Amino acid sequence: AKAAGGNTLRVYSHSDGEVPARERLRLETDLRVALASDQITVFFQPKVDVDTGHVTGAEALARWNHPRRGLLTPGAFIEIAEETGLILRLGDRVLELACRQGRAWIDAGQPLPLAVNVSMRQLEWAGYTDRVLEILEATGFPPSMLELELTETVAMANSEQVRLVTERLRRAGIRFAIDDFGTGYSSLGHLQHLPFDTFKIDRSFISGLEVEGSNRLIVETILSMARSLNYEVVAEGVETLEQLEVLRATGCKTAQGYLFGMPMAATMFASWRRAFQPAVPPSALPSLAAA
Ligand code: C2E
Ligand code: MG
Ligand code: MG
Ligand code: MG
Repeated sequence: AKAAGGNTLRVYSHSDGEVPARERLRLETDLRVALASDQITVFFQPKVDVDTGHVTGAEALARWNHPRRGLLTPGAFIEIAEETGLILRLGDRVLELACRQGRAWIDAGQPLPLAVNVSMRQLEWAGYTDRVLEILEATGFPPSMLELELTETVAMANSEQVRLVTERLRRAGIRFAIDDFGTGYSSLGHLQHLPFDTFKIDRSFISGLEVEGSNRLIVETILSMARSLNYEVVAEGVETLEQLEVLRATGCKTAQGYLFGMPMAATMFASWRRAFQPAVPPSALPSLAAA
């Protein structure tokens, strides 16, 4: 079989989950068609500097324009893509689309660092580092403007392979983030040996940040860990001004969430960016207030 496992026939049973075998097979078939016919697209969600309100980057998120079912979010297809090995082609596609768009924004005088999600299957594939560098080369997107996001579980598991890939790609200038941070079991001792640049605090710790003492403590702990490891921190899933206030007070520099903007198609993102009024009190924004 190819490394992608793309030609392997798989049979699913009902015990695999809630989706019946027939429907999974259908989804897999549809996904193959999707990858061969440009149905996969990428949305962009802004990352914002909590002190200045500036847009400092965007996360690229996969979307599937399904001909019958409409626009699908990753919850509907990432799992099956991983199980079938199609995630390799999907991941290439997302990275290529993101980098191509990133290059277009540079050419338009609106450069923006981009983050792209990576799954375990991609990291395990021996050709992965070369493929990433090929895509950067082909699209002309600078490696220094790309950050790859690995979930905490992936970052911690199989750390030898993760280390090899991250070290090689980091030498090329690419940055690495630990996604959904706080949901796994990383220890400080383990983390300090892994070459990462950013923690993305999981949304579950941000929700209820206004009221819950324990979540606030967790966020503060992550921030102090980040300081001692020299990591940057992004708070995910920021939805309210109150959450933003707490984050600012605890020293978190970057936030991402519906408060600022949902994931959007590239054209939408560009107009959002032009019109964006920072959702932060003007008092905290002397530079903007004066402008
Ligand atoms: P993630 O990487 O943690 O991405 C953030 C997810 O949270 C996105 O969901 C985003 O739409 C959602 N989100 C952002 N702000 C808020 C908020 O304020 N409130 C709430 N409730 N949700 C918010 P999405 O786009 O459905 O993606 C889900 C997950 O699918 C991602 O989680 C990521 O793990 C995975 N994923 C997305 N694109 C790719 C991809 O290209 N490759 C791989 N391997 N995984 C991907
Ligand atoms: Mg992510
Ligand atoms: Mg996340
Ligand atoms: Mg998540």
